[in-house]
Amino acid sequence: MSNLRRHAVTIIPGDGVGPEVALATRRILDAAAARAGVAFDWEEAEAGASVFLKGDQTGVPQATRDSIERTRVALKGPLETPVGFGEKSANVTLRKLFETYANVRPARELPGIPTRYKGEGIDMVIVRENIEDLYAGIEHLQSHDVAQAVKLITRKGSEKIIRFAYELALRENRKKVTTASKANILKFTEGMFKRIGEELAAEYAPIEANHLIIDNVAHQMVKDPAQFDVIVATNLHGDIISDLASGLVGGLGFASSANYGDEVAIFEAVHGSAPKYAGKNVINPTALVLSATMMLRHIGELDLADQVEDAVLATLEDGKALPQDVVRQQGGDVEAAVSTTGFTDAVIENLGRGPTSVPTAASRPRATSVKPHPRWVDGEKRLAEVGPATVLGVDIFVESLLSPAEIGTKLAALSGPNFNLRMVSSRGVVVWPKAAPAFDHVGFFRARFIARDETQAVSNEELLALVTRVAGVAQWVHLEKLRSWGGEEGFTRAAGE
Ligand code: NAD
Repeated sequence: MSNLRRHAVTIIPGDGVGPEVALATRRILDAAAARAGVAFDWEEAEAGASVFLKGDQTGVPQATRDSIERTRVALKGPLETPVGFGEKSANVTLRKLFETYANVRPARELPGIPTRYKGEGIDMVIVRENIEDLYAGIEHLQSHDVAQAVKLITRKGSEKIIRFAYELALRENRKKVTTASKANILKFTEGMFKRIGEELAAEYAPIEANHLIIDNVAHQMVKDPAQFDVIVATNLHGDIISDLASGLVGGLGFASSANYGDEVAIFEAVHGSAPKYAGKNVINPTALVLSATMMLRHIGELDLADQVEDAVLATLEDGKALPQDVVRQQGGDVEAAVSTTGFTDAVIENLGRGPTSVPTAASRPRATSVKPHPRWVDGEKRLAEVGPATVLGVDIFVESLLSPAEIGTKLAALSGPNFNLRMVSSRGVVVWPKAAPAFDHVGFFRARFIARDETQAVSNEELLALVTRVAGVAQWVHLEKLRSWGGEEGFTRAAGE
């Protein structure tokens, strides 16, 4: 007993089909471990629907948090966020609690799985930023009928994830990193992401680097997916293209993923709780099993990971014991499919074997845990580097049913001695002083006030006095200071400004 290498792992069976795929994965890992002198100390923990139902609004109880803090590694099944209970998804809460900033989703052609791209050699990894972007969930109603979400992108968050992508490429001996963004439209948020991608490309020079606009990535992925190697993207875009990627190689039954933070890593299938299949013993557990191989590599059990992966590939290749979703994709009779437990048994029987039609896991570059060393400069140093901001003016967002001409004239009249009303816009298009050729009133405007003396920084007192005057004309909802650093404006122009 004492010679066993032991690993404590938090296992969260989750909701719907979660307990079935978690049990299948656990059985396969335990069987492989027993052959290799390894043992897992599974700490079973709760999260998701059952927790919300008990009245815990987070969906992740303290005992589960404590367990993950102890083990630092979690294998989790899908979690449901019942509507009307928790505010936030328990999945997103888990990712955020442990700052697992890197979501990694491989998509690789698998033996025995028919797809439109069979034989093209799809083998890509999507690296998705996992904390920021629209997923920060900062939303406000600007009026009863105007909703806004803040797309938050930071230099630090972008650098961390892009560096992670390059480090992953190095570990896995991958040749190319594609930074995907929408920098053509979103100059600051996505633009920052693109620029950092370019900066880091120089640092990781032997790896080929390119940038593609995210919509082109979607197009190219469908047209010629084998061209991609590592793709790194901001949170929402990464979410969408990684689902697209899993669809290219056989669907949700095979899509594995990992969420890495500096301290904790959480491994899970991409699919959800598939409630209509829950308890029926028909679901394909491969996605979670392959996620578990990422976990094994993360904790340094490389041989074990290879063994499990090879047994899965051999089972799929054999084609004798396939779950329903695969049989359906092959156009076969689902009556001939095996159950979840039947497939699990077959994988266990195949431990020690590998596929013959595709490279075995062991023959591929060893992908160990990726722990990039962050090299961004800290807060104070960075502040000294970029210098102080100069306040040039303010955007005041107001709710109003006045016409553009009326609101423009009224606001211009109260600009006072220190400001000019440069423009009023609606949904990013100038509507005053120049009228827009077409205008659809949504009851919400932005008024851009710029300091008359552009060489003089604007004081807070002047800004607040202006806001007070504006409040006499329209309901102001939010403010954005207009600032520049070293002469570079930190705000975009409206269309037509
Ligand atoms: P889903 O992924 O649960 O299921 C959609 C369909 O995909 C299923 O009906 C099934 O046909 C197929 N499928 C999924 N997993 C499969 C597998 N392992 N084998 C074979 N076929 C599989 O998506 P959904 O129905 O949109 O979501 C159900 C619930 O899961 C929702 O409450 C949702 O919020 C939650 N969810 C959780 C996660 C997570 O925990 N990471 C992810 C997605 C959805």
